[in-house]
Amino acid sequence: MSEKHRIIVIGSGPAGDTAALYTARAGLKPLVLAGFGAGGPPGGQLMLTTEIENFPGFPNGGISGPELMARMRQQAIDFGAEFRDVDVTRVDFSKQPFRIWVDDNELVAEAVIISTGARSRLLGIDGEEKLIARGLHTCATCDGAFYRNKKMIVIGGGDTAMEEASFLTRFGDVNVVHRREEFRASKTMLERAQKNPKITWTLNEQPLEYLKRDNGTVCGIKSRNTKTGEVTDIKSDGVFLAIGHIPNTDLFKGQLKMHDNGYLVTGAAAGGPKEHPNTYTSVEGVFAAGDVQDHTYRQAITAAGTGCMAAIDAERWLAARE
Ligand code: NDP
Repeated sequence: MSEKHRIIVIGSGPAGDTAALYTARAGLKPLVLAGFGAGGPPGGQLMLTTEIENFPGFPNGGISGPELMARMRQQAIDFGAEFRDVDVTRVDFSKQPFRIWVDDNELVAEAVIISTGARSRLLGIDGEEKLIARGLHTCATCDGAFYRNKKMIVIGGGDTAMEEASFLTRFGDVNVVHRREEFRASKTMLERAQKNPKITWTLNEQPLEYLKRDNGTVCGIKSRNTKTGEVTDIKSDGVFLAIGHIPNTDLFKGQLKMHDNGYLVTGAAAGGPKEHPNTYTSVEGVFAAGDVQDHTYRQAITAAGTGCMAAIDAERWLAARE
């Protein structure tokens, strides 16, 4: 016998938790399968950050990522949402009701909200994940302000690296370390960064490992020159990775329409209503919110915003079927 639910939310970052809060307040008793997400603990990318100073409502130093996620979860639970820290292993969205498996346990739902997020691409160095927020960062908007009058390294040669490097010069000096001489970044963004006197360039360098202080925090990289093979230490106060993001959409391959980069297509482009922005995916009754469908903004507040949209879309869609 499979367990029946009106609505299941997959993923529990700011998007999933907000969707849970809104659907719970609407009396839909959402079940949140919270484990699947950014590859880290339930709660998504914010579980990997320290202070969050740019989430509205938390002045005087902000709030820690894990604390914010704990509060969001509690708020949804208070209104009747159920959270389970499990990973979804398979889904079948080919017909109603939608089927979702957690290992051998089958659950069914009339509507689903996907908020599995995206994870930052890492270099693949041993122990790297544990260094995040300890001198190693994956989001300049989130963590740049901790480096006032400091030296930072940005790794990457795409638009994100250019954007993050330019942004970080508000706080200190930036050294862009890139593995080639050619850039994937668009001409405009590259030129803007090249004109910035606070940015220096270290090209043809492939990072090999992180340099660490006695307390274990990151203070630069050891890197190999791809032309000469020479290995050098490049020091800095902090390192920002900007080598791309990977949406957590493997589970939905072949079932939901995706962009070439793997992000879910939502809104009118997925077949949803044309009159207003919305969170419909290519399967009616399945909605998507947060970074899993947004490779542009990627902020906690925008994820929470689309989580709210998905809850309202799902609630109205369910009401229309009754
Ligand atoms: P990209 O995939 O475009 O660039 C990733 C960069 O990281 C590349 O320079 C790549 O090097 C480098 N890289 C990847 N893996 C490694 C590795 N293991 N070691 C060292 N370097 C590595 O990702 P972005 O996040 O920059 O951009 C993603 C998309 O988002 C793009 O379409 C971009 O245009 C868009 N975007 C647009 C913005 C805007 O318009 N405002 C802002 C930010 C992003 P190599 O080039 O050698 O492969």
